[in-house]
Amino acid sequence: MLTKYIFFTGGVVSSVGKGVTAAALGRLLKERGFKVAVQKLDPYINVDPGTMSPYQHGEVFVLDDGAETDLDLGHYERFIDIRLNKVCNITTGQVYADVIGKERRGDYLGGTIQVIPHITNEIKRRIGLVAKATDAEIVLVEVGGTVGDIESQPFLEALRQLRSSLGRENSLYIHVTWLPYIGATGELKTKPTQHSVRELRSIGISPDMIVARSDYPIEDSLREKIGLFCDVEKRAVIPMVTTQLLYEVPLLLEEANVAELVLDRLGLEARIEPDWKEWKNMIREMNRPKPKAKIALIGKYVELHDAYMSVREALKHAALQVGVELDLEWIHSSDLEKGKCWDILESVDGILVPGGFGSRGIEGKIQAARFARTRKVPYLGLCLGMQLMVAEFGRFILNDERTNSTEFDHATPQPVIDLMPDQKEISDMGGTMRLGLYPCQLMPGTIAQKAYQQDLIQERHRHRFEFNNDYRQIYEENGMCFSGLSPDGRLVEIVELKDHPFMLSTQFHPEFLSRPNRPHPLFVAFMKAVCEHGNIACKKPEDSPAEKNAVQQP
Ligand code: GLN
Repeated sequence: MLTKYIFFTGGVVSSVGKGVTAAALGRLLKERGFKVAVQKLDPYINVDPGTMSPYQHGEVFVLDDGAETDLDLGHYERFIDIRLNKVCNITTGQVYADVIGKERRGDYLGGTIQVIPHITNEIKRRIGLVAKATDAEIVLVEVGGTVGDIESQPFLEALRQLRSSLGRENSLYIHVTWLPYIGATGELKTKPTQHSVRELRSIGISPDMIVARSDYPIEDSLREKIGLFCDVEKRAVIPMVTTQLLYEVPLLLEEANVAELVLDRLGLEARIEPDWKEWKNMIREMNRPKPKAKIALIGKYVELHDAYMSVREALKHAALQVGVELDLEWIHSSDLEKGKCWDILESVDGILVPGGFGSRGIEGKIQAARFARTRKVPYLGLCLGMQLMVAEFGRFILNDERTNSTEFDHATPQPVIDLMPDQKEISDMGGTMRLGLYPCQLMPGTIAQKAYQQDLIQERHRHRFEFNNDYRQIYEENGMCFSGLSPDGRLVEIVELKDHPFMLSTQFHPEFLSRPNRPHPLFVAFMKAVCEHGNIACKKPEDSPAEKNAVQQP
């Protein structure tokens, strides 16, 4: 079968859920037996979001192959339950770097390098790589930003050119817009949508379908109006009213018969009947009132919840599995340093310290780890959260409060977390960390091994610093167990405390592999410990079949 393409553009405002819409449609098509992949085109000039502040961009989502990508790729992977590839995220920076590299090599000798055709050709080439790299039959391509942004123009031009080369029956254009609500008159407005479609058409793209997002129900007459003004059939104007749960979006699109319309336009027929039983049960379970499990997330970018998107989702997935509702308290680690928020910490049944970079708020996180250890509160540390658990434990057993990671104190007398020799030579900041999947051998009988029910796992990494092996023996003698190591035994991947109900941390990021209906085993183990600590009557673990097939290894 010739690869089919579905292109998503955004109109009116950003952040209306284009990524979730693409992810949800991907799921609808997968449910009908098609192999799908999703690609995000990001118009910014950074080569990848790896060097951007999470305040600017939200979380950096890491793939198996180590690509540092946009957080929308997390939605794609979670909704469709697929594993994507580095070709699935392109930025303007990558495209230009490639073209300029070729120019310097002399590939275009004699030519003038221009946006059209050189940049647009490179964009089209990279769109073409997805099907090859993933074997996808249908490739969904989302353009970041909204129509009218200066930066996104070359991408939209490339999409325009693709219509004629791919042909109408192989390409579909979906425009996702927003209908503002005027409180005074109590009506939804379609004018901004009309304008953004006009703008899109001035570039040469006529949408085949419009997804109209709104916080209020959208009447049929409004769909008709949008259809009329934007030259789209009424049935191709898809109302998408804000849902309480993100995971309801696929069901909403299903109800609106979007998949039938899409397949029809692409000349395809469903291969199998979609089966939403499990998904619907999941939504029902999410909506069922459940006892609350209160957990503190001690972060640096807590004002922007998107900065911890996958961590929050993984906690929710695990809570669902265990039969409780996540009650997440976002605590700024520097507040703890100022003596604030300790009452909140006192009130929670679990503490999570996620990944991070830079020294701001580090001491607050170490104090949170100390609180968890001494008060026997369940603790899950992810990457930086592990390194700080190690630093805190070191301060205690080595009796030296200057014990630290050399990332935060170059001159620490006890560098318990340090750069590996091969990282010491590197001066570039972009893409030079230990990135992507690495194997980890689990030690029998440990909390980690019991959670995974496996001996060898593979998890995604994104860090520079490692546990300093000079300290392994003394840590072990004092009650820290190295329950996960790289197969050659050189790198510490998981640590856990023996004399504690649950104090476990990972050097990798388990949150990236959690799925709504297949939660990550370490998050589930943490959540159970939380329930035990808080005496929260949760569902018994026996009634959770999904647990048996937890993290799928590649
Ligand atoms: N800053 C730490 C390192 O580079 C931790 C990174 C992270 O938490 N992702 O090793």
